[in-house]
Amino acid sequence: GTTCNKDDKGVNVQVILRCRPFNEEDMRAKTQSVVTCNDDKQEVIVTQNMGNKQTDKTFSFDKVFGPSSKQKDLYDQVVNPIVNEALEGYNWTIFAYGQTGTGKTYTMEGEGGKSKNGEFHEDVGVIPRAVEQLFDTLEAQKSEYSMKVTYIELYNEEITDLLAHDDKSKKHISLMEDGKGAVFMRGLEEELVRSADEIHQILQKGSAKKHTADTLINTQSNRSHSLFTITIQIKEITSEGVEIIKCGKLNLVDLAGSENILRSGAREGRAREAGEINKSLLTLGRVINALVDHSGHVPYRDSKLTRLLRDSLGGKTKTCIIATVSPSIHSLEETQNTLDYAYRAK
Ligand code: ADP
Ligand code: MG
Repeated sequence: GTTCNKDDKGVNVQVILRCRPFNEEDMRAKTQSVVTCNDDKQEVIVTQNMGNKQTDKTFSFDKVFGPSSKQKDLYDQVVNPIVNEALEGYNWTIFAYGQTGTGKTYTMEGEGGKSKNGEFHEDVGVIPRAVEQLFDTLEAQKSEYSMKVTYIELYNEEITDLLAHDDKSKKHISLMEDGKGAVFMRGLEEELVRSADEIHQILQKGSAKKHTADTLINTQSNRSHSLFTITIQIKEITSEGVEIIKCGKLNLVDLAGSENILRSGAREGRAREAGEINKSLLTLGRVINALVDHSGHVPYRDSKLTRLLRDSLGGKTKTCIIATVSPSIHSLEETQNTLDYAYRAK
């Protein structure tokens, strides 16, 4: 087999691989697994049958979470340190990238809530856990702080505000640039939040909006990106008695299904005509590659997603990509694509 290894280039991009377990249907059909995860060695092996010859390809990542990994494992090992850095005033973006049905939403949002004793259900994902950690830490520090959240959806290069108060229509938001070239969203609702419970309610409201849209066009959620952003300002007094404000930001992004990028590759021209191209997903890959390779021009301006996240990609900001795959032989081609995409981002 082939083993891919890359040097750390000192870029702030962390790539995590997560493989979901077989679902009931896979079990019933006795589907063959083609993905072997070695969590301890941070390696994933993909098995391919070529004729009667079996070949293995090994990929290494910063961390690997196999089918038996729990939400809490991924949270404790990956997200907990990120949230601590956001509290120190850093800007972090976490992307979930992968084929539809591989666990992006499960990883980012998860399922279930809290039990009566205040413990999270084991299926609860990154966002609610991060919110909890933020508030727990801030309350324990007794610092003066303010926290704001926004929640948007990007579909077909159009932005909708999932927190808009008008429940009937989806409000479209336009991207504007100020005199200094900084991008902002005009008309976006920004909610000031005071407790974890308040954020959980906001999240539920936003997610419900996403799901309403799902029933109208059932492929929409597979083709749309959702961005949940938390901005924290913490007031601190230095040892010299000077008041400073630390500003941290956490972007939590559930990307469109990566199968949408495939159609955008080789036959981009035709795909665009057919409206199949996912410009934001394609451009995100190009931006990350340009940042990792230090190849000069970074095409931020080519899509809404990358324009929006411009101040959160590159420079001093940090990025974590959680690539999700299915173990099934039926997803082999998409799994290869995801591994290649994620591996290139390293
Ligand atoms: P995506 O958002 O990538 O389209 P979902 O998060 O909706 O995929 O996951 C598809 C299904 O698989 C859901 O029913 C989800 O509960 C389940 N699932 C995904 N990942 C896992 C996992 N790591 N452990 C258990 N169930 C999972
Ligand atoms: Mg999803």
